[in-house]
This record gives sequence, C-alpha cells and structure tokens, in this order.
Amino acid sequence: MARGTIIIDQARCKGCTLCLAACPQEVIEIDDNVLNAKGYHPAVLVDPDNKCTGCAICTVVCPDACITVYREVRVRA
Ligand code: SF4
Ligand code: SF4
Repeated sequence: MARGTIIIDQARCKGCTLCLAACPQEVIEIDDNVLNAKGYHPAVLVDPDNKCTGCAICTVVCPDACITVYREVRVRA
C-alpha cells in the first residue's frame, strides 16, 4: 500500500475536525497543546506507525485547504 504523510498548516486550521472524521487511518487528532492566532486548537498528524497512505481524503474535505499530502514514489528496479 502506498505510504504517505501530510503537513497541516496549523496557523490556518479552524479545528473543525472534518479531517479527523474523514481519515480512514485515524491518524489526525486535535492538538490541545496548541492555540493558533485565530483561537483554535488545530489538527495535527499523529502517526507513529506510519499508517498514513497518502489517500488525500483529508485534504479534499478540508474547507480551508490547510492540508498538503505527500505520497511515497516507488521506483521499479
Ligand atoms: S492522506 Fe489519507 S491516511 Fe493520510 S492523513 Fe490524510 S486521510 Fe489520513
Ligand atoms: S479539516 Fe482543515 S480546518 Fe478542519 S480541522 Fe482539519 S485541517 Fe483544520
């Protein structure tokens, strides 16, 4: 399965939790330790077991385009 990761722009995140609900791997959480300038606790990737597949569902559902998805490229030998 494809491996991936995401970068969340926490400064722009509204903490709406749509990406949490949408992620099939359940690797996005709300970061209660961070309060951004807008006054929201933003989303954060918590993926110690590298379960993110790079499916991009999170970035599709984010209403503020805060999430950038990176997918591993595998080159055949
Ligand atoms: S790319 Fe897919 S698996 Fe990775 S965090 Fe987003 S929704 Fe979850
Ligand atoms: S969907 Fe976007 S705005 Fe909402 S919590 Fe996730 S990253 Fe933040």
